[in-house]
Amino acid sequence: MKHQGFGPVTAVANQKGGVGKTTTSINLAASLAALDQKVLLIDLDPQGNSTSGLGVDQQEVESGTYDILMGESSIASSIVKTEYENLFLLPATRDLSGAEVELVNASGREQRMKDAFTAYQGDAFDHVFIDCPPALSLLTVNALTASDYIMVTLQTEFYAMEGLTQLMDTIRRIRRGLNPELNMEGILLTMVDRRNNLSTQVEQDVRAYFGSQVYESVIPRNVRLSEAPSFGVPVMYHDLKSKGAQAYLEVAQELMHRRAI
Ligand code: ADP
Ligand code: MG
Repeated sequence: MKHQGFGPVTAVANQKGGVGKTTTSINLAASLAALDQKVLLIDLDPQGNSTSGLGVDQQEVESGTYDILMGESSIASSIVKTEYENLFLLPATRDLSGAEVELVNASGREQRMKDAFTAYQGDAFDHVFIDCPPALSLLTVNALTASDYIMVTLQTEFYAMEGLTQLMDTIRRIRRGLNPELNMEGILLTMVDRRNNLSTQVEQDVRAYFGSQVYESVIPRNVRLSEAPSFGVPVMYHDLKSKGAQAYLEVAQELMHRRAI
């Protein structure tokens, strides 16, 4: 593990928008926390959907990922305790959208997040997740440089595989330079609809191509998952019995199993 005193870090990434990164970040983090794991979710998307999805108001946040990247604040002083036991958040503030431009000529611009993790002094986490923005931008590069694992969320639709090549290239490039220890730990299929032939076909193709890198558990298309953010709660606190909540609990267990926890 790269950051001994901090915890194993997983970037939830895909440069496409709307493929379930944020939904996965929130609900996987909440599921692991419910399974007694101490979890930190880092919101690295200027949209701040992980922040609001955990019931935290961006307007009331004093420092967040922007301040960390700018070197103006420490991780320990920016972490917010959520309403849920074991679940912590490093929120995104609105000014994060300007970080990209402000960092263009800054020294060590790709490693700002990593440096902050290394400097962290506090209790370690069992899991740290980074919810990445929908672009292969400097923010995503910061996440991948600071991570031990990358989890790719993939929506089972026609263009699912398209763009994956570009993402794999980026991962290879990061491994060659900034972070040789980055593990491609898993592909999670989201919005799966097994009554739909195309969704089933895409699932088969992805499994044939990526083998055991693909999580056995899948996330079905489930309306409860899309409703939960408007209540600012993880789906398991909106409707524990829903297929969406049960699926993320399964993924949490599979992740722990894969990492032999
Ligand atoms: P990303 O972070 O990759 O942009 P989101 O997690 O925000 O994607 O998901 C995009 C939209 O799809 C959101 O409105 C979300 O509520 C909805 N959504 C995500 N996963 C599911 C699912 N399994 N079933 C139904 N709706 C979903
Ligand atoms: Mg998102």
